Amino acid sequence: MTTRISAIIFLNCVIASNMLAQSKPTADLIIINAKVWTVDKAHATAQAVAVLGDRIIAVGSNADVETVRSPATKVIDAGGKLLLPGFNDAHVHFVGGGLQLDSVQLNDATSTEEFVRRVGEQAKKTPKGEWIQGGDWDETKWSPVQLPTAAMIDPVTLDNPVFLGRYDGHSALANTAALRLAGITAQTPDPPGGTIVRDAQGNPTGDLKDAAKNLVLKVIPPLSHDQRLRAMRRALEYAASLGVTSVQHMNDEESDSFADIRAYGELLQSGELTTRVYVAPAVSDGHKLVETGIRHAFGSSSLRIGALKGFADGSLGSGTAYFFDPYSNDPNNFGLLRNQMQPLSQMRDWMMQADAAGLQICTHAIGDQAISMILDLYTDVVRAHHGMERRFRIEHAQHMAAKDFARFAQLDVIASVQPYQAIDDGRWAEARIGHDRASRTYAFRTFLNYGVHLAFGTDWDVAPLNPLLGVYAAVTRATLDGKNPGGWFPEQKLTVEEAVEAYTMGSAYAEFQEKEKGSISPGKLADMVLLSDDLFSIDPVKIRDVKVLRTIVGGKVVWDQDRKKQYSAGN
Ligand SMILES: [Zn+2]
Repeated sequence: MTTRISAIIFLNCVIASNMLAQSKPTADLIIINAKVWTVDKAHATAQAVAVLGDRIIAVGSNADVETVRSPATKVIDAGGKLLLPGFNDAHVHFVGGGLQLDSVQLNDATSTEEFVRRVGEQAKKTPKGEWIQGGDWDETKWSPVQLPTAAMIDPVTLDNPVFLGRYDGHSALANTAALRLAGITAQTPDPPGGTIVRDAQGNPTGDLKDAAKNLVLKVIPPLSHDQRLRAMRRALEYAASLGVTSVQHMNDEESDSFADIRAYGELLQSGELTTRVYVAPAVSDGHKLVETGIRHAFGSSSLRIGALKGFADGSLGSGTAYFFDPYSNDPNNFGLLRNQMQPLSQMRDWMMQADAAGLQICTHAIGDQAISMILDLYTDVVRAHHGMERRFRIEHAQHMAAKDFARFAQLDVIASVQPYQAIDDGRWAEARIGHDRASRTYAFRTFLNYGVHLAFGTDWDVAPLNPLLGVYAAVTRATLDGKNPGGWFPEQKLTVEEAVEAYTMGSAYAEFQEKEKGSISPGKLADMVLLSDDLFSIDPVKIRDVKVLRTIVGGKVVWDQDRKKQYSAGN
């Protein structure tokens, strides 16, 4: 024991004398000549940043960071470009997104030949025996228009079962290998609510409509570990190219969050986890974290767990968001509560158990009544276990009842919102819910006025992962159809400063990490993004075209547009 203590003291002395000899720390990396927007209220702007290891050690003028420069220091000359804290996407489906990047895209195919060629290319990239999925085909864009068949794609997919969805989700094409695995033959009857499309001889053509799709879906094996890793690697690379340095991975019912955590852990160990991840498994699985004694934001700066994700209702697009009043275009429909809310006592029990264990609760709620019910449940939890710092979240929080903004603020619930959806749904939302309810839809300004914490994200792969599209959407509220150039409910627009803050500090707060990241401040993790244009001075319409020049995570460059260009030019 004595020997060990003296060894430690000796080691400390060596470190201390080294530091004395050097007299000051020297940076591993300095970024000079930047237009730094720090998102740090104490020092909003700067010119240069110094990094040692994975932390920021100085923020100031070029002259300030010169003092920590040594011959070994790497220097990035930002050339006057805008440097921001890295974007933190507070709500993603990272594996689904990665799978989508890796799957065959068929929506813009304009002929049978093009359709078959793309499927064949995908087959060449896919290991033998593995399922090929994806698609979003739309035969109405082909000339001539004709429904695709198994016979068209069989010759190019001899080694793989294939199942490709039509863009509307109502039908899908299986190749012969997939039909065989599903046991679909001329003798198979149409299932209730579905159609097996057949040729003149009664043989299945491969096209399966509605409930008939389930015959194939149920034989597709769950994602393998290798497929999961591959999807994550694609998603990590893509996130780096977009300046996304942190993501908050939300359970999406079909996925296995614990298998995801295992895969992230493997990538962390191999040094491949270039985006920081906070994982929220299903609230119904909360007991697994409770048993382990894991509390909110448990883990390392790269990989954390300790939040749980629940579902209150559906979505506006599918008419399942749950409202107090019926849909304007469907007078008998109020939307639907999810199974997790039936009975309500089940959700309350899960929340109570999670909160007592110090876990964070994030609940998907879109319609005004669903949001209200979750606020009721959160109130019950606070009454039962007062005095804790808990940071409840509502994911989406799309359509607010006027009476609930104040409660939202009072309970300090974080509004984890996706601004891109405002300009997407804004095209048709009013037809479904009318003007009054639409005025409290994606009500980012009202949230801020009430003092609610906003966290920005995308819900990727439901919407694009690009954070600049989110900033653009929050600032312009210009709907995608071009019909509201001045903004859809323009009183809800945010400034660029507010949008950037929601996407950095706001999201960091939503995962209990505002002291570690979210701003360019000495002591924080060196997660930064260098942009092609100054968001604060360009016409807001141009924000959507801004490119990411460099992405830095923990002091390491994980994306460099120039090098990428050279790399692809050389190929
Ligand atoms: Zn989601």
